[in-house]
Amino acid sequence: MLNDTLPRYFDPRKYASNEVSLTGTIALSEFKELAVLLASNKGDVIVSLNFKVDEDRRYIANGNIKAQVEMVCQRCMKPAPYSIDTELSLAFVYDEEHAKSLPAEYDPVIMTDGEVILAEMLEEELILALPVVAYHEESGCNPIALKYASSTDEAADDEQKPNPFSILAELKAK
Ligand SMILES: [Zn+2]
Repeated sequence: MLNDTLPRYFDPRKYASNEVSLTGTIALSEFKELAVLLASNKGDVIVSLNFKVDEDRRYIANGNIKAQVEMVCQRCMKPAPYSIDTELSLAFVYDEEHAKSLPAEYDPVIMTDGEVILAEMLEEELILALPVVAYHEESGCNPIALKYASSTDEAADDEQKPNPFSILAELKAK
């Protein structure tokens, strides 16, 4: 369920003009696409956003999202904890063209009919905050899995992990 204090939809222009601050929690189970990437959908996302109009008259929001999630460890296939703690710097735009003209420090969020669905916006940011591949700390992993995986881990890390910024660029380009 959405927390009482968090709206399901919002108008970023109104929020920015009124310098609204949003804080609250959303259950991880609200995020269906994120859930596919997690070992469990138990827990909450803590959201904090401060809206304002910047000096170039953009509608923006700064803040952060925090969540304790569990991903599947790719060595032993058991749940491994991961802490999401991501700073957000969002700018609300009308379309892709405006998104492309934003300064690099902003993540574009495209408004539909002047509104944004909060959960959709947050879900994208949460997915971007996850590591491509999750592992336990070595001390927390299954020793047998560790023994067989350790010789290949380092080589695999270098070659297979896509640069997170290239993924971000791809998503933005869509
Ligand atoms: Zn493990």
